[in-house]
Amino acid sequence: MLRLKQDAMVVLIGDQIAFVRGRRAVRVVVSPRWEAVARALIEGAGSDRVRGLAGGGAESSTLGQLLGALRGIGALEAPPRETGLSAAVVERHRRTLRFFGTHETPDNDRFSFLERLVNAKVFVVGLGGVGSWIAYQLLMSGVGTVSGCDGDVVEMSNLNRMALIGPGDVGNPKTEVLHRHFASRFPDASVNFSRRVVTSVDDLVEMAAGHDLIIGAADQPYLSIRLWVSGASLQSGVPSLQTGGGRVGPLFIPDRTSCAGCLHAALLRTSGVAARGAQTEHFPMPQVGTLCPQPAADSAMVALEAIRFLTGCTAPVTLDAYLQKGPGLLDGVIHELPPERDCVLSCGGHKNRREAERR
Ligand SMILES: [Zn+2]
Repeated sequence: MLRLKQDAMVVLIGDQIAFVRGRRAVRVVVSPRWEAVARALIEGAGSDRVRGLAGGGAESSTLGQLLGALRGIGALEAPPRETGLSAAVVERHRRTLRFFGTHETPDNDRFSFLERLVNAKVFVVGLGGVGSWIAYQLLMSGVGTVSGCDGDVVEMSNLNRMALIGPGDVGNPKTEVLHRHFASRFPDASVNFSRRVVTSVDDLVEMAAGHDLIIGAADQPYLSIRLWVSGASLQSGVPSLQTGGGRVGPLFIPDRTSCAGCLHAALLRTSGVAARGAQTEHFPMPQVGTLCPQPAADSAMVALEAIRFLTGCTAPVTLDAYLQKGPGLLDGVIHELPPERDCVLSCGGHKNRREAERR
């Protein structure tokens, strides 16, 4: 495998292609052949393929000189280690890999980030306007197993905001419809949806067992569903990330960070908002207006947080914190949320934090 390092650039200067790294450059004359070679080196290609593109005979010695010069300025990477990723997955995720390339460390190359996604198992609670987009984006990003549950059927009024659905899907369960749409688009992934309404922590513990992350994207019952998701994390040890009610987060890692019960306690203490939510939770959902970009934007933030957590490429921002969205689509404030002593789930994060500080 031959590949240019992430910090090397390829630029056209007059009639020359320049491979630039720092202050040093290697140049070749522009031609379709060298353009193809440059493209292959940017994306990374087997040496046979690069040799094929460069042509045989006299050109092969020129290719040898080019590669020698590129090694001389440190612009070529060492061959990547063997990965468990199939050629089809690597090809599909060429651009994903380049994104991860900007977050590489000595211990984590771009392939290791993608491998973590391919091996990850995520459970999404609620597959409506937000959950459908979350599942879609996780699959697009390479997550290998996406499971989830939802009890509803598609209604005509869902067509303004759910991912992928159309008029022909109306009347059918959301789980069946999304499974069909996803299965054809992501043949390498495992998609497991069950038509089920969550009514307790135990329901979720059973369904989400064996997953790496639970994502709460259901909005009813207003308070209980959030506490059930965090409660399932506490009971099973599987971390969870929540969204809904204009918030993204917190990302709850049992025994380490704050949970939905901590958020409820904090809101009760500061504004009483959570108390009002608790009182109204068994009433039907108010008919709030929704424009597609709102749930889509929320889902994008959740999916990005999930990818950060699953890969470790960068730190999640909703650990011991949550994002409170503003009235517009593009505004919001991150609020810190340390574990609460009065957490309604008694998650213990508060005590663990104190002990950690004492040590
Ligand atoms: Zn808590």
